[in-house]
Amino acid sequence: MEVKYSSTRGAGAFVTASQAILRGLAEDGGLYVPDHIPSLDIPLSELAKMSYQEVALEVMQRFLTDFTKEELQNCINKAYDSKFDTEEIAPLVSAEGAYYLELFHGATIAFKDMALSILPHLMTTAARKNHEDKEIVILTATSGDTGKAALAGFADVEGTRIVVFYPKNGVSPIQERQMVTQKGANTFVVGIHGNFDDAQTGVKQLFSDKELADEMAEKGFCFSSANSINIGRLVPQIVYYVYAFCKLLKEEKIKEGEAINVVVPTGNFGNILAAFYAKTMGLPIEKLVCASNSNKVLYDFLGSGVYDRNREFILTSSPSMDILISSNLERLIYRITGNDAARTADLMKALSGQGKYEISHDEKLLLSDFYGNYADEQETADEIRRIYEACGYVIDTHTAVASAVYAKYFRATGDRRPTVIASTASPFKFARSVMKAIDAKYDAMDDFDLIDELSRIANVKVPKAIEEIRTAPVLHDHVCEKEEMKAVVKGFLGI
Ligand SMILES: *Cc1c(COP(=O)(O)O)cnc(C)c1O
Repeated sequence: MEVKYSSTRGAGAFVTASQAILRGLAEDGGLYVPDHIPSLDIPLSELAKMSYQEVALEVMQRFLTDFTKEELQNCINKAYDSKFDTEEIAPLVSAEGAYYLELFHGATIAFKDMALSILPHLMTTAARKNHEDKEIVILTATSGDTGKAALAGFADVEGTRIVVFYPKNGVSPIQERQMVTQKGANTFVVGIHGNFDDAQTGVKQLFSDKELADEMAEKGFCFSSANSINIGRLVPQIVYYVYAFCKLLKEEKIKEGEAINVVVPTGNFGNILAAFYAKTMGLPIEKLVCASNSNKVLYDFLGSGVYDRNREFILTSSPSMDILISSNLERLIYRITGNDAARTADLMKALSGQGKYEISHDEKLLLSDFYGNYADEQETADEIRRIYEACGYVIDTHTAVASAVYAKYFRATGDRRPTVIASTASPFKFARSVMKAIDAKYDAMDDFDLIDELSRIANVKVPKAIEEIRTAPVLHDHVCEKEEMKAVVKGFLGI
């Protein structure tokens, strides 16, 4: 059955999957959502025999119904290849009573690669299908990891250009270095004086700037998004939850009919929403554990039903989760309002106006699949050290937030179900915070010495993504105020 997409805020004008991917964000500022979640109508025991690429095809063809099987196969082949340093693509590591689903074996060693290595191919295929002959300009706001993963995905992809805005003082030194050394004539990286929410809000404003859109169209450009607001980011993320479940089944870690829990370190709510979609497709997931860092808006929301961004923005050691406006939550809100676009639009208007909204009692009851908690800076560091000392496994700061929250969940519930923790970044990407957590003495070392020391104590080879930036020249040094973002984009496009 065909899956059509409409805006969370719109009056039900449907578009195809490929059109939704091309546009990124709906014209009314809403997010594209599927009219129904397709069911995973294939036995899990069948899926358990498949490779990552094969599972990807099964999941993606159920959502992206206007793509042919050949088109999807082609995109999958181009994305999930030797760019990943493990044949499995997403290995599952058992440590300290949980399964860590390592999603960081792609080109930029963060889980964003899982979707951003395929999005450019989905997008250029979508452009061909819809006879879009304008050059696609990808505008992206990043809290650190999306930017590099999107740059790596779109660099030198014909018919596209990419502009990335990142908070100048809000990303890790390795993250910044990864971005500013990006090659590719179609890439443009800009630091802004502001935080991630400023960057994301600025980008959203550019997307809904009608005047700019007209001017661009005249000059042969159109915007799209590589942020997780693009449905083309979300769908590929469903795949690894299905894959992980099937792997546990295959290895007889779980029995048929048994359910698992999933723990996700959460920022923009994209990754955990993908897990929720996987559950809605029929994958046996019991609890979706939403883990926040000290920016615990989601924890407060799941507890009280009030989403309130009016609070101090805290810079933490898990910068990719330093977010107060979790964009993808809008897709869940739409669902719990009974697909009520008018109500969703009202709540989002309250969010941008007063910085907060409250859902009804009945709506809140529909969030019972989720459990929320958070880990502060000390708890995050303690968790990295605890896991390392117990078994020698080194996890990054984001994964540590999830791991610490899982421990809280377990203490609170005693729930012994097999649990998969989404491991979203390589510890090498956040080497200083990770090493400091293990032993304060490491803080005296410089960034790349720390990398070598991490490699030694974890007994893991330094990833290629890190080796590359040791000596790479800086190619981007633009910095701007948040009010200047429009002018900067126009300048880059020469309009
Ligand atoms: C982006 C990111 C997250 C948060 O994922 P969302 O989909 O935004 O919730 C967590 N950890 C890492 C390492 C990330 O890059």
